[in-house]
Amino acid sequence: MEEFALVDAIYGWSCVFAGMVYRNRDSASGEASLMDRPLILDDHFHDHCGVFGVFGHPEAANLVYLGLYALQHRGQESAGIVSSDGTELQFHRAMGEVEEIFQPSVLAKLPGSLAIGHTRYSTAGDKALLNAQPIVIDCNKGKVALGHNGNLTNAAEHRRRLEHRGSIFQTNSDTEVIVHLLARSQAHNLSAALGDALNQVEGAYSLLVLTTDELYAVRDPRGFRPLVLGKLSTPGGCTAWLVASETCAFDLLDAQYVREIEPGEMLRISKCGIESIRFAPEKSHQQCIFEHVYFSRPDSIIFGRSVNQSREMLGRLLAREHPVEADIVVPVPDSGVPAAVGYALESKTPFRMGLIRNHYIGRTFIEPSQAIRNFGVKLKLNPVHSLIEGQRVVLVDDSIVRGTTSRKIVRMVRDAGAREVHVRISCPPTISPCYYGVDTPTREELIASSNSPEEICKFLGADSLGYLSLSSLKQAVADTDGRFCTSCYTGVYPTDLVQLEVRSSASNGKPCAPSVTIGSEPAPGEGPVVVHRET
Ligand code: SF4
Repeated sequence: MEEFALVDAIYGWSCVFAGMVYRNRDSASGEASLMDRPLILDDHFHDHCGVFGVFGHPEAANLVYLGLYALQHRGQESAGIVSSDGTELQFHRAMGEVEEIFQPSVLAKLPGSLAIGHTRYSTAGDKALLNAQPIVIDCNKGKVALGHNGNLTNAAEHRRRLEHRGSIFQTNSDTEVIVHLLARSQAHNLSAALGDALNQVEGAYSLLVLTTDELYAVRDPRGFRPLVLGKLSTPGGCTAWLVASETCAFDLLDAQYVREIEPGEMLRISKCGIESIRFAPEKSHQQCIFEHVYFSRPDSIIFGRSVNQSREMLGRLLAREHPVEADIVVPVPDSGVPAAVGYALESKTPFRMGLIRNHYIGRTFIEPSQAIRNFGVKLKLNPVHSLIEGQRVVLVDDSIVRGTTSRKIVRMVRDAGAREVHVRISCPPTISPCYYGVDTPTREELIASSNSPEEICKFLGADSLGYLSLSSLKQAVADTDGRFCTSCYTGVYPTDLVQLEVRSSASNGKPCAPSVTIGSEPAPGEGPVVVHRET
């Protein structure tokens, strides 16, 4: 019973942060239900968080600012930097994007040669400044700052237990659970206390911890989220160590990529050098495959592999699995571009930028007034009529989440004069939410959780729809030994508590997505899925 309540709490969080409520006007008519979905501008899984740390550089805070700037795509709601001059921690956190928060006058108040930073898109806890990171505490282990990318799946259980024992929480972020467990640890040094705390939590964490004279970089034993080590020469000829969510942050600084921080590894960086500590028993690796499909920048190396290379291969395999007679291949920019390049190369069909994205639409348009919402996708994308008119178009995108935006894009391409529109998606149908640090809609909001590809194709108004198979997705990232998490495509989760949520839903006799089912079973994750529809 207690476990079910906990699961409710976790599931409730994901409902709240999806930021939308599904409205079902007529559960007897599936199509009406789909049509009745609220208009949204950005129908993607949302990025989670980015972290960046520096040890041993006189301009540590400035470097962290630049690093966070390169990682802005991983979170745009709030950002923070904590620096150390060897005796004190100074910090600044605010809502908004990195560029607007860290003016030169702010950075001037963050002295020292050590610093960590965090850019956040809330995945647990609300959006308030209170939950902005890094979290800074002064406890029996000294002054400590933490920045966390990921999501803990047993945070609610720990929080309840800790509150019963008298802990007072300042935020509603899952990261604060680690802080309390750290403070309560009986271990005598910080690395042991950190290991003690982290061995009690479950889920995803790529974590940076700063003290007045040390920097820790930790990755959970399954390695859900990326974390990489780099280095940079200081003006004095010494080596400064850098840690980042993605290697693109090193490129901006002309820093050198050294290696990944391994799943289950804790790096302790101090004046004595770098110490690698295995703090947890080994677990099967579950690196997020969606980092390669959509989240990470294509110019990054993630899990030891070029993201752009993976995405182009996704497109090539998509073309092999779902060929179609067409005149041009058009990406949904920007994230669909590398896969569309791969599709065009493989199918020997001309690649055309038939949709132009307005890059100056800020995140403030995600939750606009009703009047602005009516513009929908047009605010962000505009078709190039001269390229599209009279053409048979293959439209390549990286995913379909709710389907509402994809539907508008298909209509936009048709209105621009396309003779045929064939939608190709460079991953399998997304049927299940993520519990590991990615902001996803609820299961019932995911169109593929309860609608067949045929139904989705009809809803989109496309001539055909083809999803990449799970086996090809794994092939594109060279996953020969099951090192990647694919739970949002399979509904099978590697951690117990999430599986409990799935089971509890089924055992109560309630289908996972009762209100949007319009006929057949959800598409299987394995095997290619292609649909052709006559128009
Ligand atoms: Fe990544 Fe999906 Fe796994 Fe979440 S469920 S970690 S988005 S692959």
